[in-house]
Amino acid sequence: MYGSEYKVFWADSIKRSKNEFDNLSKIERFEWLKNSKQKAKEIEIDTIYREELDQKLYDLTIYHKKCQIFLYYELLASETNSNGKLLYNRYLLDMCPFLNEVMLLPNHLFAQIDYDRWKIKMLEEYRIIEMERRIIPKRYNQIKERLVYSPLYKRPAIYWIPYCPSYKSPPYHNNDARIPWDEKFLDKVLVPTIMREAILCVKQAEDAIFVLKLIEDILCMRIKSVRDALIYELGDGKIFKCSLCNNLRLSNNLNYYIDNNSLTLLYNYTDVKRHLYLKHYNWYSEGCEDIYIELDIKTVRNFLKTCSNHWFWHGIYPYKLPDDLATVLANRRLIWWN
Ligand SMILES: [Zn+2]
Repeated sequence: MYGSEYKVFWADSIKRSKNEFDNLSKIERFEWLKNSKQKAKEIEIDTIYREELDQKLYDLTIYHKKCQIFLYYELLASETNSNGKLLYNRYLLDMCPFLNEVMLLPNHLFAQIDYDRWKIKMLEEYRIIEMERRIIPKRYNQIKERLVYSPLYKRPAIYWIPYCPSYKSPPYHNNDARIPWDEKFLDKVLVPTIMREAILCVKQAEDAIFVLKLIEDILCMRIKSVRDALIYELGDGKIFKCSLCNNLRLSNNLNYYIDNNSLTLLYNYTDVKRHLYLKHYNWYSEGCEDIYIELDIKTVRNFLKTCSNHWFWHGIYPYKLPDDLATVLANRRLIWWN
């Protein structure tokens, strides 16, 4: 049997053919080669034929699978409730990945997929898609409609509603988003809870902004020199500049930056030292570099603002705060953090 998959020649048969060929006379060899070529040609034709046959069988199998799934799909899409109303939306059914995935199953597994098993898996996906695409947005509209008429609407608290825990993850009956909220539950429980949380967010935000500004001011007062910045572990920040380049720029009234390698003229501590060594070697003296390094106070302030912002939204300060200041933040957990 020869097929496209049989492309390996056994060492034995090559050896056998070689012996056979060696034992032939010159005239016989000519005939032998002719016959061998003919055989090879036949094998090639046979291979192409089998490949085509394989492809046809594959197409046929896929066609059968498609027919069966199409039948299941139509059965499911036509299911109705006791009032004769269709239970499932075709648009959402079409979005279920399992609809196509099942086609890729090997035949022996595909044979085990009967309608009931297929339906269970399809409906699992359908419910998730239905919640994401239809029910959850509808639920949020219910809440939003009520909030528009609430006293919060024109106050800053409305801004914080998307961050409120009860809005982000509202409680559902039996943990099932498909069971509708009744009006009483919305008006008496859910919306007032969200409103309370939003007002709490406003207070927490104001408090946090005040404290973070205070911390920035304290740090700016403490960090006045290159040494201070290193003590506060800010060596990785791009807050240092080369005073030699900076003086040259100022004395020549240059409005552009001198060092082409840096658009800002600001470096982290390691890079500013490297810059001094490479660009100002005559002035460079190892261990005394700091006299040519300046701290850019304005950038330090901006850097601290970014740190505050990060803490405000994510609860993380990107570098270790001194213990006394870390304690100030430690008790202020904001409710929109995960
Ligand atoms: Zn320089």
